[in-house]
Amino acid sequence: SASFSSGTNRAVYGKVGRVPVGIGRRRMRVVVTGGAGFVGSHLVDKLIARGDEVIVLDNFFTGRKDNLVHLFGNPMFELIRHDVVEPILLEVDQIYHLACPASPVHYKYNPVKTIKTNVMGTLNMLGLAKRVGARFLLTSTSEVYGDPLQHPQKETYWGNVNPIGKVASATTIICFGCLFSYSCRLLLSFGLIWLGERSCYDEGKRTAETLAMDYHRGAGVEVRIARIFNTYGPRMCLDDGRVVSNFVAQAIRKLPMTVYGDGKQTRSFQYVSDLVDGLVALMDGEHIGPFNLGNPGEFTMLELSEVVKETIDPSATVEFRPNTADDPHMRKPDISKAKELLNWEPKISLREGLPLMVGDFRQRILNEDEGKGA
Ligand code: NAD
Ligand code: UDP
Ligand code: UDP
Repeated sequence: SASFSSGTNRAVYGKVGRVPVGIGRRRMRVVVTGGAGFVGSHLVDKLIARGDEVIVLDNFFTGRKDNLVHLFGNPMFELIRHDVVEPILLEVDQIYHLACPASPVHYKYNPVKTIKTNVMGTLNMLGLAKRVGARFLLTSTSEVYGDPLQHPQKETYWGNVNPIGKVASATTIICFGCLFSYSCRLLLSFGLIWLGERSCYDEGKRTAETLAMDYHRGAGVEVRIARIFNTYGPRMCLDDGRVVSNFVAQAIRKLPMTVYGDGKQTRSFQYVSDLVDGLVALMDGEHIGPFNLGNPGEFTMLELSEVVKETIDPSATVEFRPNTADDPHMRKPDISKAKELLNWEPKISLREGLPLMVGDFRQRILNEDEGKGA
């Protein structure tokens, strides 16, 4: 196989995890960067439930204290407001490095900050891992494959990423504040094109992978790399522009679901608990990766809108919108490597997983409406 082996095989790695919990396992002290976000908060729940001590570092750019409020007061849990672009000193056994905006609307909002988070943030966490002998896991992304020329994508594929993006033309008219709430500025030229490009995220994550491998080869840091495919579930930001959160919120609000382009582009959607299980299996296992973590069930955006319609509101409708720049045409993980080496595969199909996020979305939309005095 093309995977690397971590080599060191220390039974208990790190310098901190000395407190026995149950039989055969020692309590770990674990850092989760980005732990106030969607995926991070579910990961923190799982780690706390199994008896680990968890420190969350988050600057609350897209994360929310609400996602962790149920853990406030738990002596095994600590939340630190911290931007990973700045160095920090901690003593820990494991670092799950998730800090980075994940939705295109958020990561294009300040592309330079996205790159700093991916490069300087990852560098700092690897420096920390090196200093204390901690194991480091990077949450990379299927976006490293860009607009893929191989389908489905295997970990050996090097990707097709546009590092430059499009240059706005002089005739471009800039229009502020239409379509979505706060964070997106749209360009009107030959149709609607996003003012940002994907490359800050794609190339940022590619560099983060390179950094992780260089710290592994050069400094012996134990690293793990996950390439995550589109994931959904409770606690996603309501208006983050991602397709599942958009369609679910639109159907609940009785608005048409906005399909970009012809809606024939595909994605593969993974329920968040499957992802969290995969991340923990990867961290605790002996293989570096990279590993694709995703659900191979592939859907066009029109098919997704049908599933949302069946799940939430049979009278829901769709509305077509111009597509964004550089939108990958298809995406589907080949997960045979994770199946074989991590003994992991997703368990929850889209039809089973979507209903599990609807209650949370309904409640938050209701709270929002009440907050506005509606
Ligand atoms: P999210 O936006 O909900 O969470 C990201 C968290 O990182 C937020 O809490 C945010 O406040 C925090 N953050 C951002 N910049 C920071 C900084 N400079 N310092 C400290 N904290 C910072 O996104 P998510 O969906 O939970 O994604 C988590 C990770 O998984 C990200 O690294 C993302 O790239 C990766 N990923 C997610 C998906 C997905 O579909 N959700 C797909 C591929 C990869
Ligand atoms: N770093 C950190 N916490 C630590 C150790 C390092 O934030 O406990 C940061 C450090 O400030 C530096 C980065 O991680 O910016 C890389 O550290 P490393 O020791 O690898 O490189 P150097 O400091 O020699 O550039
Ligand atoms: N998309 C859509 N309607 C929306 C939001 C997104 O049709 O309201 C499409 C988008 O063009 C893309 C797909 O859904 O083809 C997935 O977009 P998302 O932003 O969720 O994730 P990513 O592009 O990063 O996979």
